[in-house]
Amino acid sequence: MAHSPQVEQPSDGVAHVATAACDDWTAPGAHEVSDGVHRIPLPLPQDGLRAVNVYALEASDGLLLVDGGWALQAARDALEKAVRSLGHSLRDISRFVVTHAHRDHYTQAVAIRREFGSRVALGALERESLEQAMAPGPGGRSMLALLRRADAGELAEDLLAAGFGRAMEPRAWELPDQWLTGGERIPVDAQRHLEAIHTPGHTRGHIVFADRHRDLLFTGDHVLPHITPSIGFEAAQAQLPLQDFLDSLERVRELPDMAMLPAHGAPGPSVHRRAAELLEHHENRLALCRAEVRPTGTTGYDVARALAWTSRGRRFRELDPLNQMLAVSETLAHLDVLVSRGVLSCEERADVRRYAC
Ligand SMILES: [Zn+2]
Repeated sequence: MAHSPQVEQPSDGVAHVATAACDDWTAPGAHEVSDGVHRIPLPLPQDGLRAVNVYALEASDGLLLVDGGWALQAARDALEKAVRSLGHSLRDISRFVVTHAHRDHYTQAVAIRREFGSRVALGALERESLEQAMAPGPGGRSMLALLRRADAGELAEDLLAAGFGRAMEPRAWELPDQWLTGGERIPVDAQRHLEAIHTPGHTRGHIVFADRHRDLLFTGDHVLPHITPSIGFEAAQAQLPLQDFLDSLERVRELPDMAMLPAHGAPGPSVHRRAAELLEHHENRLALCRAEVRPTGTTGYDVARALAWTSRGRRFRELDPLNQMLAVSETLAHLDVLVSRGVLSCEERADVRRYAC
């Protein structure tokens, strides 16, 4: 779902990409990454991600921003200060193109639009999750159903007791002005444009933006340097979100290699290198999941509890309930890919899915 407190799963064993700026990528300001392109890290309140990068491009009609950040006073203040250091004000932000509808990327774009009339573009397949986030009443139903499918009903109860799914401020969510399906050319100035590329997986409507003139790829949460993005953490879920994600990594590898400008973490020199690491990581996780499945039938919850999590190899029980939920969701996504490949079989009884080899 789009309005839970953390959208990325903790790293589970992925080798870190070394970058010189790694330790201080969250330092406030407008950091030039290329001629006319500035990275602006904005604070996030409570989770391990620490900050979200938005990228400001000098455009013919003012500033074009890739992602908007989370609509919080501290993030607004940081954005205002950074934009002022570029000789602009928030009023000069003419357009936002947003990689996906998670709140740390999307909500500040609509808040600034409300105030200054900027235009906002978002992936068309985010619509269903966004409309569910805008609906009155509690959210998170699809994630709770997913937990029950994994036979993790007790975890669903713990999350509900901790307030999971409680409705956010309803004004935080609004529809964008433009829906992107991929393939659009978004003009920046007379010479340059961004190309929208649909990369489902992290969410169904996730879009990355390529600046072919400057060899930059704004990767959103699709390709991140230090963590593996969570898969399918959204209100309206895909059938096989992990397969979508793997296909989207291949799609990025089919493009010419470009510098990686991620939404969380420091920029890196090669999107291809990181995409290859992520593909390898998931093949390893698929093998580990496969190894935990018994001929007599195993649930997603059983497999999630048997695996090690985070780069430190933490046990499942050491994770907080929200990260346990992400771990179960990730495990089911892997098991379902193994079924689609014919490696496992699966049957569903009383809403619980059991996998067998
Ligand atoms: Zn994010």
